[in-house]
Amino acid sequence: MPAVPCSRTLLGALGATLVAATSAAALPVVAIDAGHGGSDSGAIGALAPEAVTGLEPRFNPFLQPVLLEKDVNLDVANRLNAWLAARGFPTLMTRSTDNAGGDVPYISEGADLKARTDAANAALAEIFVSIHQNSSRRTGASGTETYVRSSAPEVTHLLAAGMQRTLVACLGLPDRGVKERSFYVLRNTAMPAILVEGAFLSNEVDAGMLASPDVRQRMAEAIGGAIFQYAGLGDPGPICSGVGVAPPPVPKKIVLTRAGRKLTQRAGINPKRGDLWVATVRDASGAPMSSIPVRARLPNGKGVNTTSRPDGKALLAVPRRKGRVVVAVAMPGIKVAARAKVPARRR
Ligand SMILES: [Zn+2]
Repeated sequence: MPAVPCSRTLLGALGATLVAATSAAALPVVAIDAGHGGSDSGAIGALAPEAVTGLEPRFNPFLQPVLLEKDVNLDVANRLNAWLAARGFPTLMTRSTDNAGGDVPYISEGADLKARTDAANAALAEIFVSIHQNSSRRTGASGTETYVRSSAPEVTHLLAAGMQRTLVACLGLPDRGVKERSFYVLRNTAMPAILVEGAFLSNEVDAGMLASPDVRQRMAEAIGGAIFQYAGLGDPGPICSGVGVAPPPVPKKIVLTRAGRKLTQRAGINPKRGDLWVATVRDASGAPMSSIPVRARLPNGKGVNTTSRPDGKALLAVPRRKGRVVVAVAMPGIKVAARAKVPARRR
């Protein structure tokens, strides 16, 4: 595990604003949230007996070696903290030991999560990134996901989209896309907040990767690189053990179509009230583009932010009301948009 020269625990939270206001005025305060901790191990993965993890050895009741999500998350968080601190970012770790949020013993999920968001809010953090690993009963499930609140502002969707692209590029696991969910740490933080699920501990291949210190370093650098770009600092240089961050993608076209009644119903929309619309983002070659933030203006005047899925499609619930639906790629410097008339209400 690398040294953590500028790690700031909850006790030091007060100092974070000071640093932000003086020496690193231009750089945002980043709250780094290592998911789970203490008696909450998070997901549990199987481990090959000969695996060298660089983490504290852990065993299940059958004395087989296992990999605990809380340990992976904290290791990635420590590596991310070192990476950001080396570039002058003021940081805050919501936990820096094998404990609940605030580095206190785990009592309950409610207390744990509240301590995490309280710490970030008190430090006036400007970015909150929660680090988790996934698990599924379907053992085949594999890959990377980033979560954002659907009602989060456009900049948060931009951060989530960039994070997902960089993580997929660095880890090389399947792209499961940016997903919308109102997790506690996302809805109780007063700054752009996202949650990443790096890989699946329930999957042998993914878990084998998470066991590797090199892969955890790549994950940390992917998250750091995305924050670096989001902060408007440009190219972060070689990251992910030399893989490097791909330059921001350049969407060329967005195609807007109204889905049929069946798909509308399948999306949970009452066809009497509205329709499912699909905005497909494509590159210059016409290929669909994943993880592109999309903003939409609905005929009722409401603005919506979302992100294209791995198949390039961003889904929109559009009320049946006379007017227009307008969609645009929500990336700085890129002007790609489409509009369509919303037909009159069905009888
Ligand atoms: Zn988790």
